[in-house]
Amino acid sequence: MQKRIIYVDNAATTPLSKEAFEAMRPWLTERWGNPSSIYSIARDSRRAIEKAREDVAAAIGAKPDEIYFTSGGTESDNWAIKSTAKAFASKGRHLITSAIEHHAVTESMESLKSEGFEVTILPVDKYGLVDPAELEKAIRPDTILISIMTANNEIGTIQPIAELAEIAHKHKVLFHTDAVQAVGHIPVNVEELKVDMLSMSAHKFHGPQGVGALYIRKGIRIPPLLHGGGHERGRRSGTENVAGVCGMAAALKHAIETMPETSARLARLRDRLIEKILQIPHTQLTGHPEKRLPGTVSVVINYIEGESIILLLDRYGICASSGSACTSGSLDPSHVLLAIGLPHEVAHGSLRITLGDDNTEEDVDFIAEKLVEVVEKLRAMSPLWKG
Ligand SMILES: *Cc1c(COP(=O)(O)O)cnc(C)c1O
Repeated sequence: MQKRIIYVDNAATTPLSKEAFEAMRPWLTERWGNPSSIYSIARDSRRAIEKAREDVAAAIGAKPDEIYFTSGGTESDNWAIKSTAKAFASKGRHLITSAIEHHAVTESMESLKSEGFEVTILPVDKYGLVDPAELEKAIRPDTILISIMTANNEIGTIQPIAELAEIAHKHKVLFHTDAVQAVGHIPVNVEELKVDMLSMSAHKFHGPQGVGALYIRKGIRIPPLLHGGGHERGRRSGTENVAGVCGMAAALKHAIETMPETSARLARLRDRLIEKILQIPHTQLTGHPEKRLPGTVSVVINYIEGESIILLLDRYGICASSGSACTSGSLDPSHVLLAIGLPHEVAHGSLRITLGDDNTEEDVDFIAEKLVEVVEKLRAMSPLWKG
């Protein structure tokens, strides 16, 4: 018999929903026209993309012509940051971001430094929140872009984006947000948040991997990141991922329709699991206690290594994570945990459990039970643990 898998790493990726799969199937099988061709089967592909664009736009309160499909969150972040820098370099060469961004943002910023741009990295408090007053102080006459994520992928903290974006606009600075962990999980509306650009990724809300979008507010002109045949109204070349965008739109539509009940259910499971884990001595919640994503449980467990916890949980079929998927396998503790003020040795004991649609109360209780065993076992072997 196959071992039962309890998948609780939904911040890394989510399983494809039935709705998304069904929306993709025709474009992977009997319907294949290149949307740029002019015969009728190609026109069907074109129409499917434009319908997907309308659905994605509606899901975040945007207009269809403000949505540009990309290969995912990483490309959207790279495009927003690098192309804004390029477009506005004559106005200024200063950008602002936070200390807890995804690497797609931090590395894009880093790459600009070698081209003569300056980057201010805002600190966060012990919960991972950016202070709006700190942001305002950091803005200079030559600041051209602020990029702060909507919700963090490691600790689940949700930023006051509307407030931060308002400060940016008061100083006539563009505001981009990486909303990859937020879209499809908490309400995200570009008119309410007043952001200028917003990144999203389908595989974080039960859509397929390798497809995402960048929202660019009408009137903002940034050059393409990818040059070629002029797809996406000249701003993002490359033959469209027809099945991908259809899957993305269907997944997002479903996520938004079911959001009120799903988020309430996940928040209940999350709080139940957090309560059980914090009963283990020398453990601590990371991230904000209330302003956090409904499915995110993130803790540090002292005197043991997060990686060892993950490996032992895996023996029980539990798929969890220690920090972000990108830093797994590296020996450095997560920059997010260091930014919220945890010492290196504590940050090493991090555990992230991100719940999803399929998880039940039974899963949560099983995880808590096995975690107690795993922690006892590892602490017994740990030279740092003195009982
Ligand atoms: C997953 C993730 C990304 C990267 O998205 P991909 O589609 O995997 O490239 C960017 N930002 C955040 C916050 C993420 O969680």
